Amino acid sequence: MSDSTSDPFAFADALGPAKVLHVYVPALGVRGVAVVDNVACGPAIGGVRLAPDVTALEAFRLARAMTYKSAAAGLAHGGGKSVLVGDPHMPTPEKERHIRAFACAIRDLTDYIPGPDMGTDEQCMAWIHDEIGRAAGLPEEIGGIPLDRLGATGVGLAVSAEVASDYCELPLRGARVVIQGYGNVGRHAARCLAERGAVLVAAADSSGTVTDAGGLDVSELDAWKEGGEPLARYPKGTKGSPDDVLDVDCDIWIPAARPDVLRADNVGRLQTRLVLQGANIPCTSEAEATLHERGVVVVPDFVANAGGLICAAAEYHGGSEAYAFEQIDAKIRANTDAVLREAQRSGAQPREAALHLARQRVERAATARRWHV
Ligand code: NAD
Repeated sequence: MSDSTSDPFAFADALGPAKVLHVYVPALGVRGVAVVDNVACGPAIGGVRLAPDVTALEAFRLARAMTYKSAAAGLAHGGGKSVLVGDPHMPTPEKERHIRAFACAIRDLTDYIPGPDMGTDEQCMAWIHDEIGRAAGLPEEIGGIPLDRLGATGVGLAVSAEVASDYCELPLRGARVVIQGYGNVGRHAARCLAERGAVLVAAADSSGTVTDAGGLDVSELDAWKEGGEPLARYPKGTKGSPDDVLDVDCDIWIPAARPDVLRADNVGRLQTRLVLQGANIPCTSEAEATLHERGVVVVPDFVANAGGLICAAAEYHGGSEAYAFEQIDAKIRANTDAVLREAQRSGAQPREAALHLARQRVERAATARRWHV
């Protein structure tokens, strides 16, 4: 957390960040940053990420992505994000102490509603809710909609794929899909795309890549991961390193792991027609521009992967599971279409069209506020 980018003013622009809280609890070794980026549309919702290598800059960038995601989805929420340095697989009692200490530290940051992210889950949100009375993505037993178990984000990605496939004249039936990151997002995206007739030809987790040009059995792969097994030990297909997932020829490539996995130095390896951004900020701006020049359609993260956020917001406002999934379908279908239609008309990158849409909504909301853009 000591990088120079932890200076919020190095990152600030007209939208935010509105508040930055550095969290340090030396007795427990808890270190982190909570960022509230913008609250013009309403209180910020954003995940709590627990990983050994997270940085303050990651939190600033992810919080901004959440501002855009909320605004694009037309939610009465702004964007925020927290990062905590630590091993997500630490023993449960230790994890509970970490998360509860973090919750106490953000008690007064009342315009921030924490949610699950990499390294945290609904149990963690239950601990936070128990401490401070606010969190989204709760367990069912206390009124939550289990968004990761139901695959809210993966469901939304498949809806986005349906719309985007028309823009690249790519029927989903038979489309070859590659997924980097076979976790909550990646696995459900694979399942929902397979239900639409697409064929999963490669998947990667942090242990390795498994490839089969003839198609991997998604249910079998799911059961393998459900059992806690790494893809590197999956008994079928060809195995490779995690990085090999970039070289697999396909029609749809889905990043669903970490930020900046597609960069100027490796984007040339991708052989695909459509990139659906399941992960947040998976692509640098240079890499995204290169893909656009090559005619690859890229659906930006905050449009394609908004399913989890839409579900969390529905839960926070007391909506049912059925309502949440109706909202995911309607909002992601409409936004993917609006963004790709505008990009096609103007020749601009889909991200530019998406940013315009999101910024317009934030600015319109801000006219009702005294202090916020
Ligand atoms: P997860 O922890 O369940 O899964 C992440 C997967 O990525 C794991 O399978 C892990 O092994 C794999 N991975 C990590 N490093 C890798 C690498 N270098 N190469 C290949 N695979 C690698 O996390 P998740 O909830 O599925 O989230 C994945 C991404 O999607 C994150 O960027 C997250 O911020 C974003 N996201 C998640 C949601 C959600 O609803 N869970 C919503 C929007 C965006």
